[in-house]
Amino acid sequence: MANERFEESIKRLNDAIAACDSIVFFGGAGVSTESGIPDFRSVDGLYNQKYKYPPETIISHSFYMRNPSEFYRFYKDKMLYLDAKPNVTHEKLAELEKMGKLKAVVTQNIDGLHQLAGSKEVLELHGSVHRNYCTRCRKFFDLKYIVQSEDVPICDACGGTVKPDVVLYEEGLDQDILSRTVARISQADMLIIGGTSLAVYPAAGLIDYFSGKYLVVVNMAPTPRDQHADILVHGKLGEVFSKITIS
Ligand code: NAD
Repeated sequence: MANERFEESIKRLNDAIAACDSIVFFGGAGVSTESGIPDFRSVDGLYNQKYKYPPETIISHSFYMRNPSEFYRFYKDKMLYLDAKPNVTHEKLAELEKMGKLKAVVTQNIDGLHQLAGSKEVLELHGSVHRNYCTRCRKFFDLKYIVQSEDVPICDACGGTVKPDVVLYEEGLDQDILSRTVARISQADMLIIGGTSLAVYPAAGLIDYFSGKYLVVVNMAPTPRDQHADILVHGKLGEVFSKITIS
């Protein structure tokens, strides 16, 4: 019975994708768990492991300012996955964009896997581990520089501290990314929400700009938007996206 319901939802999803030509995907950490990157709030996610401080505290602006050394110890150990590869969800989204159906991927992820899969319009609400800047002279550094640094990465030009271009708790979102996201979501005829608990604001509030035809939610755990979904699948993104037929 459950399987029949799953197949029925996939059929409705495929029919809706065929009928739409302005799809936006809004995703979170659950998109990359099948690439081996843990999310935050699942049972085996980072928030359920034990650290000296809770992860929300360590990856906050005030903690970073007070204790950059401890921040970088956690960040390098738990938030950088150099060998992770895009999975079927990243790849299908890139294909949908190439076909002209999907207009943007809005992501809370910082791992760069959508771009690696070939997606072009990726709106990174929380930045990227691949971009890093000297806080004094603004010199750019790649991820390798961070990984190879001992302790806190220091700028080789001016001696300033290098900070990841990642939005920490207590920091605001980039205004340009925000307005492009609002424009994309408000013009979409389908919004697919996937792999996010919708617990992190202001990112989660951006889906309120959607007024199109199909709201789709694909997530393992229930989300606050389940009851508003036209198509709802509780399951793995990989199982759903591998069944999306693109023609
Ligand atoms: P979250 O951990 O709060 O929620 C993840 C959700 O995805 C959960 O509801 C879980 O049930 C679901 N999920 C996990 N694997 C799934 C799968 N294979 N298929 C379908 N659903 C799946 O993540 P969030 O809502 O993105 O918020 C966490 C914040 O942490 C974000 O701001 C993000 O920037 C950051 N983060 C990013 C990464 C990354 O870049 N890959 C990883 C961890 C956390």
